[in-house]
Amino acid sequence: MRQTINNWLKNNQLLNFDVFTRTLLKQNCLLCASPQANGHALCGACLADLPRHPATSCPQCGLASDSNLCGSCISSPPDFDATAAVFLYAYPIDTMMQRYKYGCMLNLSQTFGQLLSDKILLESVDLVIPMPMHPARIKERGFNQAHEIAKVLTKNHAEKLDYKSVIRQKLTPPQASLPLKERVKNIKGAFKANGDFSGKRIAIIDDVMTTGASLNELAKTLKKAGASHVECWVIARTLPH
Ligand SMILES: [Zn+2]
Ligand SMILES: [Zn+2]
Repeated sequence: MRQTINNWLKNNQLLNFDVFTRTLLKQNCLLCASPQANGHALCGACLADLPRHPATSCPQCGLASDSNLCGSCISSPPDFDATAAVFLYAYPIDTMMQRYKYGCMLNLSQTFGQLLSDKILLESVDLVIPMPMHPARIKERGFNQAHEIAKVLTKNHAEKLDYKSVIRQKLTPPQASLPLKERVKNIKGAFKANGDFSGKRIAIIDDVMTTGASLNELAKTLKKAGASHVECWVIARTLPH
């Protein structure tokens, strides 16, 4: 499937990606196969059953807390200022995210983007930046999953979407393959911001937030380039067991 889509993309560079996902990947509910999905990847009943990120969580890092800042954010605050997540990274979201990322279930980006837009306030930021992927990885996968979600999120405010000013200059091993403490080292210096973000309020979009090492490094890069406020807007957040 992935190979087919990659070949298809190579031959159809000019066709709008959204049209592609809507027309060619239309399907029944991904989880229960019900035909009631109305062009979405999931039907209403399955959507309602998915594990939601709890409303009571640390506003800065999204980990469990009584809605106040958690101890870790008080003692060593991350470089980002806030976190919004739609789901907990638990079954079956974990399987779905894997399929989305590696199996090309691209119509999930519509569903994910819409769910995320219910969770955030687009007006509260100046720019929306999808987690940049190294060009070699985009070539390999055919798309950047964070960019696809960001496109849905900014559908009516395309001027806020900035996917060019920050690049991933280091081709690093996938974070998921590394032990937690290696992740910070792995991602250090991975991003380069071209441009002045002075005083800008920025939301970074990513599919999954695990340790937050990549998001933190990107936030650090953006703050160094002048950003005044950086939020993480993610589809799923892992919580330690
Ligand atoms: Zn269903
Ligand atoms: Zn926290």
